[in-house]
Amino acid sequence: MNAAPTLREASCADDYDPNSMPVERARTLIRDYLEPVTTIERVHIRQALGRTLAGDLASPIDVPGHDNSAMDGWAVRFEDLAAGAETTLKRVGESFAGRPHAGRVGPGEAVRIFTGGVMPDGADTVVMQERADDRGDRVVVAAGAVGKRGQNRRFAGEDLKAGGIVFRRGQALRPAEIGMLASLGINEVPVYRKLVVAFFSTGDELVSIGTPLATGQIYDSNRYTIGAMLARIGCETIDLGVVADVPEALEQAFRSAAASADVVITSGGVSVGEADYVKSLLDRLGEVVFWKIAMKPGRPLAYGRIGDAHFFGLPGNPVSVMVTFYQFVRDALLALQGRTGIEPMPTFQARLAAPLRKAPGRTEFQRGVLARANDGGWAVRPTGDQGSGILSSMAQANGFIVLPEQTGNLDAGSEVEVQLLEGLI
Ligand code: AMP
Ligand code: MG
Repeated sequence: MNAAPTLREASCADDYDPNSMPVERARTLIRDYLEPVTTIERVHIRQALGRTLAGDLASPIDVPGHDNSAMDGWAVRFEDLAAGAETTLKRVGESFAGRPHAGRVGPGEAVRIFTGGVMPDGADTVVMQERADDRGDRVVVAAGAVGKRGQNRRFAGEDLKAGGIVFRRGQALRPAEIGMLASLGINEVPVYRKLVVAFFSTGDELVSIGTPLATGQIYDSNRYTIGAMLARIGCETIDLGVVADVPEALEQAFRSAAASADVVITSGGVSVGEADYVKSLLDRLGEVVFWKIAMKPGRPLAYGRIGDAHFFGLPGNPVSVMVTFYQFVRDALLALQGRTGIEPMPTFQARLAAPLRKAPGRTEFQRGVLARANDGGWAVRPTGDQGSGILSSMAQANGFIVLPEQTGNLDAGSEVEVQLLEGLI
């Protein structure tokens, strides 16, 4: 059997540079180790928003169920219409949406029909009402009102045939899919169970909100950012609080997190100085690779497994947390949820509204505000100080300005790529 290489083997491959792993390489490595959840549950479509379909879904019915009219007008027999002259037909009834005409349309006859109304037997074509003159018990159809047989008529099964595949396994259920399921009369769907993600913050300086700060202490914000980002992806979360930089406390936290969750996410404790210690602890509990990714912010990032759980050790700086989550963790969580066709975060080409500074060597994710320029194109303005501890730069931003490794300083007016933060899920 050709087993996948262990994480450690993969990380020892030729192109692995532990001090400067390219962003794309790290993404690929993570992707190779993800095993999606397999447990399936059935939920009502009202509860299905954001979930992932766990099987192919066939339509139980034809959509539409009957031939019907695409317009308000008159259901007629095409052969009755005189070529190049007016035609007078006898009105024999009405067909409203939901209230069909009971009889047939015979030679020389027409039925008043409205959009969605079932085509009466005998009629094959709809004359739009603007091309016909309603004279009460008669209707006069203008010359050349209809180009061909079947015009303005929607056919049964034209949208979907009974038994045809509507959605494939791995499809994300968004409002459009949910509406479509309802249109097929489907009220329950199989979805993958929700991912359970446990997370905690590490650091002796951290205090939970609700407690006054002593000198040198800061509020733990990462747990709240992470909790909020996870909620958007539709994960079940277990908040394990703040864990002090104490060996026994950390070991205990890692063990209980891994035992109760599919994924464990931590912040802090992977930077120089703290990493060695956390690394030796995790080496005993699982298989963890520490990376210095060639990116800014977010250089130190740990990925691996603890027991059966996937593990992401994010840096401590609040901006780094968000950048690494969006660049690595988001896609991984979607894949673990069984999602297929995961699109990269949507990007825009925009022109810099101000010059920016960048040293070549790492991919940078600067925070920016994307807006319409006067000329109608898109312009992006960096949000001032780009320090990785400055969370307000994230709060002001609506996108990341993605600057490739080789890029250096850029002048105002340069074309850059911007990843939109809105609508990520
Ligand atoms: P570390 O990676 O643990 O060295 O942390 C890097 C920086 O991020 C330090 O200034 C920490 O105080 C800060 N930091 C770490 N964790 C958090 C957190 N949960 N909330 C806010 N800031 C944090
Ligand atoms: Mg720390």
